[in-house]
Amino acid sequence: MNAADCELCREPGGEVVWQDGLVRVVRVSDALHPAYCRVIWQRHVREMSDLPAAERRHFMALVFAAEVALRRLVRPDKINLASLGNMTPHLHWHVVARFADDPHFPDAIWAAARRPPRHAAAVPAREDLACAIAEALAEEQGGNG
Ligand SMILES: [Zn+2]
Repeated sequence: MNAADCELCREPGGEVVWQDGLVRVVRVSDALHPAYCRVIWQRHVREMSDLPAAERRHFMALVFAAEVALRRLVRPDKINLASLGNMTPHLHWHVVARFADDPHFPDAIWAAARRPPRHAAAVPAREDLACAIAEALAEEQGGNG
């Protein structure tokens, strides 16, 4: 797949909550899993091992920052991290807050649903997510944690 055919090159892939020149974090609109971020490399790159080491570290620092942000904001039972890219071979990580009573638990969010949506699903506000990610990234990069 070339960049012109790639949806993550054409579109943000969600509501952008944090970005720099290398990577963006978006909030995914998913009614069943509302505390869900994607961390997307800005350039069209296919595999993690195609990135230089410093860029890999930066990418993963944002994945960890998104994880920490979701943990602080919605206190999930589990965080799921996934990098598949079979459909869209443009590097991106899924960071999904999971709850024992969410529709797919304990399966992956892409499996068949086992139960109806949660009643009081926590939806992190864009501003709260942006602040929590920036704070977690500073901690991650400060190395004091
Ligand atoms: Zn792409």
